[in-house]
Amino acid sequence: MIFLKRPQNFLLFCLLTLPLFGQAQSTPKPRPRVVVVGVNGMELDVIRPLLLKGEMPNLARVIKSGAYGKLRTVSAPNCPRVYSTLFTSTKPEEHGVSGFIVGGITANTNMLKEEPIWSILSKSGVTVGMANVPATFPVMPVNGYMISGMLTRGKNCEDGVLCAPKLSEVEGGDAVYPAAMKAELLRNVGDFYIDCERMPSAEQLRGNETAVIDAWLKKVQLIRDQQTQLFDYVLNTHPTEFTWLAQSCEDRTGHWLYPIAPYNVGYNPKINAVRTDAFPDQYIAFDKVLGTILKHVDDNTYVFIISDHGIKPLREFEETDPHAHMDHEKTTPVIAKHDFADGDDVPGSFFAMGPGIKHDLRLMGFEASVYDLAPTILHIYGIEQPKQMRGHVLTEIFENPGSKVAQK
Ligand SMILES: [Zn+2]
Repeated sequence: MIFLKRPQNFLLFCLLTLPLFGQAQSTPKPRPRVVVVGVNGMELDVIRPLLLKGEMPNLARVIKSGAYGKLRTVSAPNCPRVYSTLFTSTKPEEHGVSGFIVGGITANTNMLKEEPIWSILSKSGVTVGMANVPATFPVMPVNGYMISGMLTRGKNCEDGVLCAPKLSEVEGGDAVYPAAMKAELLRNVGDFYIDCERMPSAEQLRGNETAVIDAWLKKVQLIRDQQTQLFDYVLNTHPTEFTWLAQSCEDRTGHWLYPIAPYNVGYNPKINAVRTDAFPDQYIAFDKVLGTILKHVDDNTYVFIISDHGIKPLREFEETDPHAHMDHEKTTPVIAKHDFADGDDVPGSFFAMGPGIKHDLRLMGFEASVYDLAPTILHIYGIEQPKQMRGHVLTEIFENPGSKVAQK
C-alpha cells in the first residue's frame, strides 16, 4: 500500500492509477460531492439556545434537511488528537498524534502512522481539496490541493504553544500543496492568517481587560473573514469532489470567554462580566461562514458539519492548576476546557445532509462517534473500509443503507 506522504509517492501513485483514469474517461460516472466543515470545540449547550432563537439560520437549515446529534469523542480530547482520529478512524495511540506535543515536539503530519482519508480518496481518483483543517501541517500530497490549518508553525511560534502565522510567515514545512498554489493564494486571497489568534496572557490582561478582550475579538473576526474569503475562493476556482474546510476560533474564544456564572471556577468579573456574548457570538459568526459555504452546495452534495469535541466550564480535579492550560497559552486565565479524562463530558457534534440522508433525524445518545466519519465518507464513494478503521458506516442516517451510495 502506498501511503501518500511524500511528493514522490504521489507521482508513483499517479503512474499506478493511470489505466484507471483511462477507463474512467471511456465511461464517465460522476462521483458524489462531499463537503466537510469542521468547527473546533463546537458546544451544543451554547448552540441549541441560539438555534431556538433563530440566530443560526444556516445550521438550522442543515438540521431540518438532515441528521444531527452528539459525536462521541476520544478521552482527553484536543484538536490534533481528535482530528487525526477523524482522518484515520483509529485510536490516538495507533495513529500516533496523541496530543499537542508528541515526544517533545509539536504534533505534525510526519507523526501520522495510519493512512488518512485524503490519501485513500486520492488513490481512488477522487479529487481532494482541504483548507485550514487542523493538524495537517506540513501538508501532504493529494489529488488536488491542501492548505494547512491549526498547528501550522511559523514566525514566533514556540513548541506546543499555538500561534497565528500568516501564510507568508510559515516556517518548518509547506503550508500549501501544490507549492505553486501558494503564490496564487497570496495574489488572489492575500496574506491570510492560517490559525486563530493565540489567547492573551494574564499579564497582558491585568488592568486592561476590556481593551484587550475587544482587540482580541476584533482580530478573531478579521481571521474569520480572511478564512471565509479563502473558502469562497477555493470553492469557486478549485472545485473538488471531496472538500474539507475548518474553523478554529470558536474553541479558542470559549477557553477564556465562556459565559460562566459567578459560582464557576475562575470567575473574574473584570474578564467574565465584560463581553458575555463573545462566545455565543462566535457561533452566530460561524453560521455566516456556513452560509458562504452552502452557496457552493447543491442538492446532490453531501455536507457534514462536525466538531472534534465540545467545551465546558472547569469541573474536574484533574490538574493541580487547571488554569494553566498548556495547550493554548500557559498563562491565560482559562475558565473552560475540553481535555477531560472522560470524553463523554465534552462530546463533539455531528450534522449531515445530502442525497439519501434522512431528513430531520435526531441521533440520540452516542450513535455517532469520531471514528465513524471516515468510513461513512468512504461508503459514499463506494470505497471499502480499510481493516484498520475502527468506526462504522453511519447506516442509520441513510434512507436506504444497504445500497452503495456512489452507484445510485
Ligand atoms: Zn481548545
